[in-house]
Amino acid sequence: METPTTKNPRTNSPDEQPFRVVKRPRNRSSSYSSACSSSSKSQSPRPETFLPIFTALILNIPTKFANQKDLFTTLKSLPSFLFLSLTVFRDNKALVTSRDPDLINKLKPLRSLLSEKIQIQLHEKKSKKTLLPTPNTRNHKPTFSCVARSVDLNISSTDILTALKEQNIEAKNAWRIKSRQTGKDTFLFRIISTCPKSIDTLLSKGFKMFSRNYRCEPSQSPGPQPLQCGKCFAFGHNSTSCQQKPLCYRCGLKHDPATCTSSPSCTNCKGKHLAFDIKCPKRPDPKTLTPSKTAPVKCVDPPAEEISDDDDSSTELTSNPEPERFTRIEDVIRFTYLCMSSLNPNSRLVEDVVARHAAQFFRRKVSYVMRGSHVHISITHLKTPKTFSHS
Ligand SMILES: [Zn+2]
Ligand SMILES: [Zn+2]
Ligand SMILES: [Zn+2]
Repeated sequence: METPTTKNPRTNSPDEQPFRVVKRPRNRSSSYSSACSSSSKSQSPRPETFLPIFTALILNIPTKFANQKDLFTTLKSLPSFLFLSLTVFRDNKALVTSRDPDLINKLKPLRSLLSEKIQIQLHEKKSKKTLLPTPNTRNHKPTFSCVARSVDLNISSTDILTALKEQNIEAKNAWRIKSRQTGKDTFLFRIISTCPKSIDTLLSKGFKMFSRNYRCEPSQSPGPQPLQCGKCFAFGHNSTSCQQKPLCYRCGLKHDPATCTSSPSCTNCKGKHLAFDIKCPKRPDPKTLTPSKTAPVKCVDPPAEEISDDDDSSTELTSNPEPERFTRIEDVIRFTYLCMSSLNPNSRLVEDVVARHAAQFFRRKVSYVMRGSHVHISITHLKTPKTFSHS
């Protein structure tokens, strides 16, 4: 007689594993061709929790029923109607969420049950969000740079850009770095890119040109940036807490900078430069800044599964169970860096500490590519095992 095969509950119920390890393909291709092609997210089927949620706004509820308990009981009595959440407000209004597309018609019996004055309408703001999930479009794409070493003086920008293009490495521009002391050309070349994956490739493998492999390094990080308002350009606060009318960053007057033809006049020092010029004498010295007066560092690398861009309404949170998330080691490293850098504006110290522990704990090499207050955290596998002395 055969014994029934005992099924491993772990392998049969993925729901029990909120954190799964994303497995990398074992034979990772070392060709350059995949450098920037995988910018789109993997097309996994949408879990059930991403079905659209419809929200109805009920107006003019009789005061007697305009409370959480009584309206809940009334909604429960409606025929074949399932709802996710109900929020009754003090002004005789209520919001009902449901996955039922026929929500409005299902609520109509409320008029005969409670009052003919009741109005029921689809709540536009919510339904737009849930019906048409628009991708988080970032118009502003920060550019990042790294530095190629040992580039002979007769090699031009065109040579480098052509070589990078052939290897599918996206680069916006490249130029030779001049020595700050002597003003003379150096053997260093700066490469500018908006593609973090291309920067990763350059930092981990370099690029080939004239049958030689050129190594690249991250540029030295500029350190913490002072917090500057995006509306009035004063230092020490951000635009969300600013009560001022938006100013033009060119001339400091109250108009749209896109149409400004005036010559630059700084809002902070009246000098002949733009309001966010790094050379402004009124710009606070980052070394003197406390964390609250330092611009928060924003990481451009999204976590493995980005959560939906819904607002923080409590109705949504209670009705929508947390979708399954993946956590990668890369996410843990970036998370740790962001937490530490928001506590300590000494970014170089934070960079070193996180890189050291990431090497020890996760065997990852971490490089930071800064652009203003944006950071691309490039993470690659360490090649040879490192031994750490426990002294
Ligand atoms: Zn302001
Ligand atoms: Zn202006
Ligand atoms: Zn200035």
